[in-house]
Amino acid sequence: MKEEYDVVVVGAGPAGSVASFLLAGWGFRVLVVEKDLFPREKVCGDGIAPRAVHSLQALGLEGDLEGRFLRTRGIRFYATHGGVTEVRYPMGSLYPDHGYVAPRRDLDFILARRAREAGAELWDGWRFAELMPFREGRIPGLVVEREGERREVRAVYILGADGPLSSVGRSLGLLRNDPLYMGVSLRAYMTGVRGVSDFLEIYPEDAISPGCGWIFPLGGGRANVGVGFMLYARRFRDLNLNRLWETFLTRTRYAAEKLASAETLERPRGAILRVGLKGSCPRRANVILAGDAASMTNPISGEGITYALESGRWAAETLAAALHRGNSDILEIYPRILSWYYGRYFHQGTLAIRYGNRPEFVNPLLFVTSRFSRLGDKMGRFLMNCRRSFPSPASFFSLPGEPWAERPPYRPTP
Ligand SMILES: Cc1cc2nc3c(=O)[nH]c(=O)nc-3n(C[C@H](O)[C@H](O)[C@H](O)COP(=O)(O)OP(=O)(O)OC[C@H]3O[C@@H](n4cnc5c(N)ncnc54)[C@H](O)[C@@H]3O)c2cc1C
Repeated sequence: MKEEYDVVVVGAGPAGSVASFLLAGWGFRVLVVEKDLFPREKVCGDGIAPRAVHSLQALGLEGDLEGRFLRTRGIRFYATHGGVTEVRYPMGSLYPDHGYVAPRRDLDFILARRAREAGAELWDGWRFAELMPFREGRIPGLVVEREGERREVRAVYILGADGPLSSVGRSLGLLRNDPLYMGVSLRAYMTGVRGVSDFLEIYPEDAISPGCGWIFPLGGGRANVGVGFMLYARRFRDLNLNRLWETFLTRTRYAAEKLASAETLERPRGAILRVGLKGSCPRRANVILAGDAASMTNPISGEGITYALESGRWAAETLAAALHRGNSDILEIYPRILSWYYGRYFHQGTLAIRYGNRPEFVNPLLFVTSRFSRLGDKMGRFLMNCRRSFPSPASFFSLPGEPWAERPPYRPTP
């Protein structure tokens, strides 16, 4: 069986769903292929930063979160010998004064449903199997499978939004498995957590260094609790995720106290992060990558929903412009947009974590920021990448006299 689309999106996480939501809304024929059936779990801290809320607002999607998920007012950092630093939102004038903690099982379902309502076809339960071989310099489509059934799907463009282990990226040799740009994390939902309110709590405590832990509140004493570390850190210390988890629960100064009588609601689950932009190359021929597949997680905070939403939008804008003008060369601009907007910060972040994430630096830093709130705010803005304003991606392609996004829906000639 053969199908034909303008864009096939692989993966219905935030990056894939936002890209399909936009492209379908602009009238393009979009198919989203998702290996799991919705609603599905995704291992994550579930923290939605204000910068991500900003993106959701711009897309008219924040209403889906409001009143449904716990709103957060800021972040607290707990350092074993540095005290507690509290940073309140807003961080910078551009971003809203709140974030959320939204379990990904719900958030991703909401976004995927929005994409479907906008007109995208969603095949959940279908796994991307392989790309069709190159023909005349482009990939004509891909093969998807479900329970032994295989389908060939043709597309003008393919968007790989299939997460940090991206099969699309791997098939084209676009992933770079450098431990400097990869991390591992483990999280569990817990109940009976003491003293959590509406602040995200981050624990760069000595006992788990160079790893870091978090407790993100879900309300009613429940929280998303996790630990993680960057893979290159294993060169310096014998790190093991399960051991780190045990240490976090029992031998940290601040976190252990809060978790002393907490119970895990399910077995802790781990996952990979691909960070800092340099863990993959985002384009080859008519295929581009977005979100974690494009290594878009913040190397300092481990926060990736913000960048999945933003790169999903960038990808959609780029593909729409290429489809609208019938010119695939436009895709050349996509990697440049990513390095232009994120390259410098992600590079600084990678270095900051590589050389600064050690107790002899973290403790004095947080000691100072806990006493001088303005310094704390500056640090918060740096960690969450809220220092610079972020122009609307649409402005990039809406050249004077060519506001393509407002034109009638594009239909390619058969
Ligand atoms: C433990 C942990 C905690 C985290 N905490 C936070 C946090 O608190 N806040 C934050 O902002 N970020 C956090 N992140 C990062 C965040 O989860 C990711 O950056 C974000 O999910 C990236 O979104 P995405 O759409 O690019 O990819 P994903 O959310 O990974 O979505 C990819 C989708 O592709 C699908 N897929 C994969 N392979 C195939 C295939 N072959 N065929 C079809 N479909 C496929 C998957 O099922 C999935 O639905 C955390 C990550 C981890 C691991």
